[in-house]
Amino acid sequence: MEAFGRAAHRQVEPTGKRATVIGAGIAGLAAALRLRQEGWDVVVVERAPSRRSSGYLVNLHGPGYDAAERLGLLPALAPRDIGFFTSVLVHADGREKLRIPAAVTEAAVGDRALSVFRGDVESALYEAVAEFADIRFGATVRAIAQTAGEVDVTLSDDTHLRSDLLVGADGVHSRVRELVFAAETEYFVDLGHMVGAFPLASSSTQLPDGVGATFIGPGRTAAVMNLGPGRSSAFFAYRCPDHAAELALGAAPALTRAFGDLGGGVAEALRQLEPGTAYFDSVGQIVMDRWSRGRVVLLGDAAWCVTVFAGYGAALALDGADQLGTALAAHGDDIPTALDAWETTLRPEVAKRQALARKGISRFAPSSRAQVWAGEMMLRAIQLPGIRGLVRRAIQRANN
Ligand SMILES: Cc1cc2nc3c(=O)[nH]c(=O)nc-3n(C[C@H](O)[C@H](O)[C@H](O)COP(=O)(O)OP(=O)(O)OC[C@H]3O[C@@H](n4cnc5c(N)ncnc54)[C@H](O)[C@@H]3O)c2cc1C
Repeated sequence: MEAFGRAAHRQVEPTGKRATVIGAGIAGLAAALRLRQEGWDVVVVERAPSRRSSGYLVNLHGPGYDAAERLGLLPALAPRDIGFFTSVLVHADGREKLRIPAAVTEAAVGDRALSVFRGDVESALYEAVAEFADIRFGATVRAIAQTAGEVDVTLSDDTHLRSDLLVGADGVHSRVRELVFAAETEYFVDLGHMVGAFPLASSSTQLPDGVGATFIGPGRTAAVMNLGPGRSSAFFAYRCPDHAAELALGAAPALTRAFGDLGGGVAEALRQLEPGTAYFDSVGQIVMDRWSRGRVVLLGDAAWCVTVFAGYGAALALDGADQLGTALAAHGDDIPTALDAWETTLRPEVAKRQALARKGISRFAPSSRAQVWAGEMMLRAIQLPGIRGLVRRAIQRANN
């Protein structure tokens, strides 16, 4: 298949090694693809009954874009790229405050960048993986036992999967982590915010085509984007001391309580929200001092969730999966050593992204009006050619 470079163009030499991957998100499917490229047989176990839908918008640039390229995903992702769009910063009633043309963002970020829905990345990976992997939807993991030579996973339907390696790519609330390491509370660092995101019908955004409108106020951000049919979406982030109460309330009532006073299409977007269609969760990082134990390794949000405030979790899932394949190929049958080497290589980047996310909270939920004003000054300054060069260099430094 032309779309998936490395898998298609390299003859896969079977190694006889078997991997079980829990979770068919970006991390799990990327691991399945990469392990196959190294000659492994792979079974993927996904709790959802079928493939998930579009989700929310993710940006891939820097190492995330490079990893997508190495995995051979660019031909499938490029046609889904939303590209750069005009961003309008608005007052609470929806009136325009300032406008950042698409060309300004493009000049700052550069051309090795993609904006796609999370579902597009998962679809590109799924298409590449489905022809060789055994993907079991509607199943989860009930027990995990390992010896020096293999891992035995008991699934919810009582089947056993025996393999050389188990990859726990089951997201921030990972069951694999809980079974092999410890309860989530041991590793979850609450950043004190909620995030919601969902697709929208473009016709009802009240915005011209190709425009995203963002309101940033003390403790909260709301964005509505009209990027055409099937590509429009809404995004919300807000400070919240009690995320359990918000989750119990549910996405639509909680988001309406936090943002229902805003104009500019926000209230309309919230009215469109149908139960079960939004991503809605608390924002918290997973911080662990080990990502593997014997033949079990955690990958993606399960291991290190950097959060939406980093804007980098999908990138790290792809890069982490790619590097995992490389480390396993380099260390032959010595899987624990391969996992150690992989972790040593990846840890500095993960630590950097987690730190950047903690610093970045104020961009999404400024703590005061003064901080809102300072953020606006930054956005105005970006439009000045000299400052634009500085911003571009800062983005490049963050990506190196
Ligand atoms: C609003 C928002 C915007 C973002 N923007 C960006 C961005 O611009 N750039 C970027 O790089 N990143 C971004 N991210 C982060 C990125 O989307 C995530 O870090 C990434 O998708 C994580 O992938 P994952 O596969 O590790 O986890 P997940 O996407 O959570 O996938 C886990 C999978 O495991 C399955 N699963 C869970 N439990 C079980 C179980 N017990 N058994 C079997 N299966 C199970 C789930 O159903 C799911 O399919 C954003 C995140 C959010 C919320």
